[in-house]
Amino acid sequence: MTEPVIELHEVSRRYDDGRTALRQASLTVCRGEAVAVLGPSGSGKSTLLHLIAGLDRPDAGTVTVDGVRVDRLDETGSALYRRSKIGMVFQFFHLVDDLTVAENLVLPARLAGTGRAEAKRRAAELLENLGIGRHTRAYPGRLSGGERQRVAVARALMNRPPLLLADEPTGALDSAAGQEVSRLLQDLNADGQTLVVVTHDLALARACTNRTVRIGDGRITEDTAAQDPAAEAVR
Ligand code: ADP
Repeated sequence: MTEPVIELHEVSRRYDDGRTALRQASLTVCRGEAVAVLGPSGSGKSTLLHLIAGLDRPDAGTVTVDGVRVDRLDETGSALYRRSKIGMVFQFFHLVDDLTVAENLVLPARLAGTGRAEAKRRAAELLENLGIGRHTRAYPGRLSGGERQRVAVARALMNRPPLLLADEPTGALDSAAGQEVSRLLQDLNADGQTLVVVTHDLALARACTNRTVRIGDGRITEDTAAQDPAAEAVR
């Protein structure tokens, strides 16, 4: 059996105003899986992603990622964890507009202690592999949405994270650019990258993931991994 990368055990999160965003959610994601998290707005998807990313803490339950008990980390531990274990891609890219594309990539590697020359080499290699090598010296503002998202994916991969998390990665893109990003995620997973994608985009979920988890009102209501593989094949 493949090794688990994410293990959520009966995780609950209740906000200060009394709202319960997650109710005893349990989920195991193994190395090499690509999982789409689907559900209506307000169902708890972002809360789930934030807990996995160490950006928030559960009120009950445990969150383990690549052997790290994420729910127990303090602020410093959580920053180190995010640098080494997680790559994140957001709907609106979150690139630093005052830095060039290459500098955007070098930054997280330098923060993680990689030497400047090695960080530059890795950035050049990733940009080339992701088909955006010609934009290395450009500023993000000059690029199209699809290109910016490619840069954001490249940045997320700089520190070779065991887990790539994407929050609506095609949400701000037109359909052609969305399909390109979808193909990119698909290729990364084919190369072994473990992936969790929160999305409303069913086409993206079908194209680049092999498992669907649905959330409704803070509960996991459906998980295709728990179903008959033959049924999954005709989905
Ligand atoms: P989704 O990502 O599926 O839209 P969220 O995880 O953002 O859902 O939200 C789940 C529930 O928790 C919603 O009812 C939302 O209003 C509430 N919520 C999310 N973040 C906070 C917060 N920081 N404070 C209070 N309530 C929140």
